[in-house]
Amino acid sequence: MTGLRKWALAGALALGSAGAFAQSYPTKQITMIVPFAAGGPTDVIARIVSDHMSKTLGQPIIIENVGGAGGTTGSTRAAKAAPDGYTIMMGHMGTHGAAPGLYPNIAYNPQTDFEPVGLAAGTPILIVARKDFPAKDLKEFMAYVKANEAKVNNADAGPGSVSNITCILLHDMLKVNPVTIPYQGTGPLLNDLVSGKIDYACDQIVNLTPQLKAGTIKAYAVAMPARAKALPDVPTSTEGGLPDYQVSAWNAIFAPKGTPKDMVAKLNDALVKALADPATKGKLEDLGGIVPDAQGASSAALAELVKRENARWIPLLKSKVKQ
Ligand code: ASP
Repeated sequence: MTGLRKWALAGALALGSAGAFAQSYPTKQITMIVPFAAGGPTDVIARIVSDHMSKTLGQPIIIENVGGAGGTTGSTRAAKAAPDGYTIMMGHMGTHGAAPGLYPNIAYNPQTDFEPVGLAAGTPILIVARKDFPAKDLKEFMAYVKANEAKVNNADAGPGSVSNITCILLHDMLKVNPVTIPYQGTGPLLNDLVSGKIDYACDQIVNLTPQLKAGTIKAYAVAMPARAKALPDVPTSTEGGLPDYQVSAWNAIFAPKGTPKDMVAKLNDALVKALADPATKGKLEDLGGIVPDAQGASSAALAELVKRENARWIPLLKSKVKQ
């Protein structure tokens, strides 16, 4: 056999075995990194969706919570993980849309260091407060925060997180700059909101619906043009007197760059099946999540979403926050 033919044959065999390998994927458990503490919105969505995905894939999906630095610590870990289909992550509008606008030395590029798998859920943003916060509606809330800027406690999941950037928007509109306490996620933050240790936060609906229904915290507005079906009593920001405050977040699955295309396709297929499953979809919608259809949950749609969100958030945050 000529040297050339030998190489060609070796190449064909290597390709053949990689193909066969991907066909049997997954053969062991998959780790899904959640870059925030357990119990928060990203964690809740990850657990609901991965539960059904693991049935389609025939292997467990284990959630690993890696909090810190507004979700960028866990996202960096995922970006640098082996691209073998066994480490994926649930990112969101903060980690993959906005964070580069707040971290000049961020260790990953949301557009080039990941393979987008698909969008899991849209999550409208609400302004919420401890239940005895002295403001009965959004107008009073705005007036109170302006008058007591030095005294009020805002909290978030760290710079670049959704709760951070959406309250940056709010504060920019109110022209205030109150103290903001960073948490590892809005799950633990919510506990402190319920117990009254902090005053208010901007957070994703899926984290808030159960507590709002139980009356342990209160909501001033949902930052959407229409009221959320899951929380029909919460007025929109327009009804409340702050019509320019319109922001809805999203959570989506990413794999490290270089994860073979057919593995990404299998993960996407499992995600789409999870979102079409009435029980899984119902759980997300009961919490106020907006569930995409197959086209909205495609890898291509997520690649476009990340590009659009980077173009929207990065210059905005660079202009508003001193670096
Ligand atoms: N996703 C939340 C945020 O960015 C944090 C969390 O999931 O706990 O604020």
